[in-house]
Amino acid sequence: MSTPTVAIIGAGMSGLAAAVELERAGVTDYVIFDKAPEVGGVWRANTYPGAACDVPSYLYSFSFAQRRDWTRPCSPQDEIQRYMAGVADRFGLTPKLRLSTEITKATWDEQRLRWVLDIAGGETFEADILVPACGQLSVPVTPNLPGRETFTGTQFHSAEWNHEHNLRGERVSVIGTGASAVQFIPPVAEQAAHVDVFQRTPAWMLPRRNNAYAGWARAAIRGVPGLQRLRRMSMLATMETFIFALRGAKPVKRAFQAWSSAYLRMKVRDPELRAKLTPDYAFGCKRILFSSAYYEALQRPNVDLLTDAVTEITPTGVRTADGAEHPADTIIWGTGFAAHAFVAPMEVAGRGGRLLADAWDGGARAHLGMTVPGFPNMVLMYGPNTNLGVGSILVMIEAQARYLAQYARRLDGRALDVRADVAGASDEAMQAELRESVWTQCETWYKDDDGRVVNNWPGYMRAYLRATKSLEPAEYETLTPAPAEPEVVTA
Ligand code: NAP
Repeated sequence: MSTPTVAIIGAGMSGLAAAVELERAGVTDYVIFDKAPEVGGVWRANTYPGAACDVPSYLYSFSFAQRRDWTRPCSPQDEIQRYMAGVADRFGLTPKLRLSTEITKATWDEQRLRWVLDIAGGETFEADILVPACGQLSVPVTPNLPGRETFTGTQFHSAEWNHEHNLRGERVSVIGTGASAVQFIPPVAEQAAHVDVFQRTPAWMLPRRNNAYAGWARAAIRGVPGLQRLRRMSMLATMETFIFALRGAKPVKRAFQAWSSAYLRMKVRDPELRAKLTPDYAFGCKRILFSSAYYEALQRPNVDLLTDAVTEITPTGVRTADGAEHPADTIIWGTGFAAHAFVAPMEVAGRGGRLLADAWDGGARAHLGMTVPGFPNMVLMYGPNTNLGVGSILVMIEAQARYLAQYARRLDGRALDVRADVAGASDEAMQAELRESVWTQCETWYKDDDGRVVNNWPGYMRAYLRATKSLEPAEYETLTPAPAEPEVVTA
């Protein structure tokens, strides 16, 4: 059996998981490309103050690389990135990394059944399998507000934090109040003289206590057999219960929503501020946020929460719809990511030269979030409809990595192209579920401009594990290489 060459694009969580499972399956001829100089993906890029996971690390870590010495439940960014570099070393991936190397285009060669990758700078690389592992939240977005370029102060996006710039004593404007902003606003408010927080939509919030583990707790995790596994399993069960609530289990959903409302009432006594922070949409529609510091930060004397729409950036500040100008030395954009492109800015051309961007014109879609008709031997990691409203994305990513390993072992010099009817039927069934989901009930990054939920998986994590457990050969068309041209013999 010939083993394929695999090109993994991205050295974040999903790229590393893909490589580990390939190694385990004996597919050792692979390269992990990343345009960044280090592994880590979003955990390398997002270095804003307060950056941390909000799913406990014993679940937000690979099942095959469990650690018993996390310092606190929700680890800070640098600890997660060190963990990822450790995984790369421990599983022998480091020699397979090609960092600071950007793949600009991947083109399917139909004759030779190979992907030809263009590397920025002019080089090319060929592989049998293309694994885009580019993340859903890797391209930062700054809204195109009028006057943005005229601002004479400092401005940066939360995912491109300017650590050279000192915020101490400054007037800072923060635009956006999503998962990133609620993490960086508390530490920024401790440094800045004044912070204006511009909120477009309030979020449902739950507390996230994150004290460092006591010595006895760390000792128990290290010493008591099975305890680590037990807490991982119980957190997984808690997350599935959240999903149960989001899927419409009314009493459970009401209980979570009541918890969130009670938390707001307890933390914010001022009725005017509380009204501004009260969501008017279904619980769970937007990403639920977890913070035990955000409401406190908003009530500091140096912080104002503003809810008039931002209409313009002026040379010296931010103008809102009421006409007021709010002076700022620095603007921090906590405005999220281009979450619907999946492989951008890389261009992918499949059978007949068709671009993936064109195939996804009506919204990104992939069979099981991984394979797309007309793009043989391309297996997406963390592709369309594999994100979770709540849960650990690593559970999904590991399932994809195991599927990829099966895929790679099955090829033996051939190529697999998912059948269009199979992909169409699975997409339709999933979209039917998603049309009934909570995510259609408000504006959220989970939906594209046409209102199609393109990011999220509709069900439980365990349902995805079942769906992806074994690759069904009948779902794929098998392609064989074109016969070699007969040699012309001249007398
Ligand atoms: P986000 O959730 O997309 O939030 C963007 C924020 O910017 C929203 O409050 C949005 O308001 C606001 N916004 C966008 N355009 C605006 C405009 N023109 N004017 C005013 N406000 C505007 O982005 P994010 O906070 O970076 O988080 C993205 C995702 O990353 C999260 O949902 C989560 O999945 C992940 N994340 C996870 C963690 C973690 O702890 N694990 C931490 C950070 C991020 P609207 O709500 O009105 O659109």
